[in-house]
Amino acid sequence: MHQTLFHPKLLIPSLQLKVTMFARQTFRCAQPLKQSFRKYSTEGAPKKSNLTPVYVAVGLAGVGIGLYRYSSSSAAPAAIKLEDRPKVFTGDWVDLKLAEIETLSHNTKRFRFEFDDKEAVSGLPVASALLAKYKPEGEKAVLRPYTPTSEEDTPGYLELVVKAYPGGPMSEHLHSMNVNQRLSLKGPLPKYPWEANKHDHICLIAGGTGITPMYQLARQIFKNPEDRTKVTLVFGNVSEEDILLKKELHELENTYPQRFRAFYVLDNPPEGWTGGKGFITKELLKTVLPEPKEENIKVFVCGPPGLYKAISGGKVSPKDQGELTGILKELGYNKEQVFKF
Ligand SMILES: Cc1cc2nc3c(=O)[nH]c(=O)nc-3n(C[C@H](O)[C@H](O)[C@H](O)COP(=O)(O)OP(=O)(O)OC[C@H]3O[C@@H](n4cnc5c(N)ncnc54)[C@H](O)[C@@H]3O)c2cc1C
Repeated sequence: MHQTLFHPKLLIPSLQLKVTMFARQTFRCAQPLKQSFRKYSTEGAPKKSNLTPVYVAVGLAGVGIGLYRYSSSSAAPAAIKLEDRPKVFTGDWVDLKLAEIETLSHNTKRFRFEFDDKEAVSGLPVASALLAKYKPEGEKAVLRPYTPTSEEDTPGYLELVVKAYPGGPMSEHLHSMNVNQRLSLKGPLPKYPWEANKHDHICLIAGGTGITPMYQLARQIFKNPEDRTKVTLVFGNVSEEDILLKKELHELENTYPQRFRAFYVLDNPPEGWTGGKGFITKELLKTVLPEPKEENIKVFVCGPPGLYKAISGGKVSPKDQGELTGILKELGYNKEQVFKF
């Protein structure tokens, strides 16, 4: 238990994340999940019957008819290779039709946008985002970045998970959209080009919807069997229902316990919550992140302005990462070890 986590200087009012407890955590050497197979030896032996020859004859006739039908009519089309699929995002604006809306929480929805060409893929490289455009009548167009939560090589559609901010023009517009309406999107908006094993260990510090670029990165790493990168996530939210992509993150944790660790911090935790309570503090990060002197690590930060201010300092512009300040600087990380989404 770290009592010092409550030091008033470490509070981040805008994010409202305070921490009560976190023990030093390292990657556990847990066994990978084992699949259980039914043991055939426990199955009962089939009962003998003098009708067996009849079944065999009828069965063989059925198989013969089935094979004839298959070979004469329904050969499955060969799958189109990923590199041969058309890519939807090549730098121009594309108007995509909203096909499905799923409510995830009181303020968050998942939107599925269909591609006109069902064989096409988004073609976004990891890590990159899309720019969404909305023009309210008589006003200037609003542009905001979003990171799809669907896989980059999924044919036919992409999905965005979007949280509504009261008074926020783009998120409110998205939440007011109906199926069959269209949204203008442009991409890719390159962020941090990833290649397998680019770093030995990456740390993802996210607040709220800042999880979406982090998830894109983690998903890319774990779907590639060649990539051995370790990933530590520190994810702050106000309440448990605000934790986006909870199911997907738990799945990664369960499947890769030796390489993926997640620490959740809540401002308003429910009863029995075993994660952190309160702010993302210097003590928490010191405890769970690899030390700055470790070779080839990278710390990624994404969240609301208050989180940047406290953890890393903000970006100056999309092309200028700005100076490293805040907790990461105090802990001894250098500018090259940190990327602000
Ligand atoms: C690389 C990148 C990827 C992003 N991906 C997603 C995504 O997948 N899903 C998503 O919902 N959002 C995402 N965002 C945030 C998104 O771009 C918009 O900022 C957000 O939807 C609010 O836009 P708005 O026009 O509704 O409100 P704005 O007018 O921009 O903001 C309204 C209020 O909300 C605050 N605010 C804005 N963004 C955040 C935030 N992320 N967390 C907390 N407070 C905030 C502002 O400070 C302001 O007070 C991403 C941002 C970046 C930089």
